[in-house]
Amino acid sequence: MLYFDAASTAKKTNIDELIEKEIFHAIKKYWLNPSSLYQPSVEVRKKINECRKNIADFIGAKPEEVIFTSGATESNNWVIRGWVDNFVNNKRRPHIVTTRLEHKSILSAIHNTSLNAEIHYVNNDEYGMIDLESLKRILWHCNGELTLVSICMANGEIGTIQDIKEISKLVHKNGGILHVDATQALGKMFVDVEYLGIDLLSASGHKLSPILKGIGFLYKKNVIDIQPLIYGSQENGLRGGTENTFGIIGLSKAVELHKPDTQKAADMVSKRNYFINQLEIKFGCKLNGHGNHRLLNNINVTFPQNITGESLLYTLDMSNVCISTGSACNSTSVEPSHVLQAIGLSKEEAMKTIRITLPDDITYEQIDKFIDESNKAIKLIAYD
Ligand code: PMP
Repeated sequence: MLYFDAASTAKKTNIDELIEKEIFHAIKKYWLNPSSLYQPSVEVRKKINECRKNIADFIGAKPEEVIFTSGATESNNWVIRGWVDNFVNNKRRPHIVTTRLEHKSILSAIHNTSLNAEIHYVNNDEYGMIDLESLKRILWHCNGELTLVSICMANGEIGTIQDIKEISKLVHKNGGILHVDATQALGKMFVDVEYLGIDLLSASGHKLSPILKGIGFLYKKNVIDIQPLIYGSQENGLRGGTENTFGIIGLSKAVELHKPDTQKAADMVSKRNYFINQLEIKFGCKLNGHGNHRLLNNINVTFPQNITGESLLYTLDMSNVCISTGSACNSTSVEPSHVLQAIGLSKEEAMKTIRITLPDDITYEQIDKFIDESNKAIKLIAYD
């Protein structure tokens, strides 16, 4: 199988065997309930807290600021609803500031809180970079009070990376707080909450390793309050329920194996650029998203030929090649991607678009094979 959909879930590679081993070992050793009082259970609790520290160190946080969740969708929903719920009895409605480029889990959660909060959308340019002047204007209007800004660090569809440090300066200068969806960024670029000035951050384990589905976390700076997601006693009473011990142990191992590596990153960027170049030369594709401020493994292109991304996906699937037409989260829908429309693509252009996201072990041979297979597929499906 040629797998080019790593943004949907990471590809299983040799590295994942180390995580598998760690989890198998944990299943034998740490199967007790971490909340029980006898010594072997205390060992499980200790292990969970070691993992919490490991993950906190990875993002420059304090251990107690990492709260385990089932993944980024949960963390995103929680941030929006949990923050708005702080103000249920407040006379003034709080403000939520976001963009039209966010993941559905943010946009839907915000849409559903719109009765209890005032919603503002920051403008963006054709490359998916947010307009800082537009953000400044909105923050000025909100007057700093009761303002939550939620921005994705690296877009899951078009790969555009925002200037989070600059954004956080603006938000804090105006008295707001900043939530960052770092689901696609974590493990692929430098993410340090202290340095970047992030107050809340969402992440999912399976973007690092495919084994880690159903585990993720929310980073919540100590001084920030949000209402509990699930009432209970675990996770400081904020997210009750017996911990996903094996997921947590696997996630801790995964972050250890995804320490920033500039050599590896440069190699991935070279391969990505070679791939983009081939798509431009061979098919006349147009790249969507930013040329430089771009996730190292993301390619999003529109074809000039009379094809749809969907027909290309299914034709390549018959040759065992996996791609995506938008984000996997809307792959069952034929609606053109809201992100592509937000950067100005017409519905027709959006339908002619595919997303290719490279796995860690991608080779130049695989890229050439993709170009060959696409060439055959396009000849088959292009209509007049
Ligand atoms: N945010 C972004 C930017 C994403 O790309 C995704 C996954 N497509 C999510 C949130 C949701 O992640 P999960 O499905 O793991 O909850």
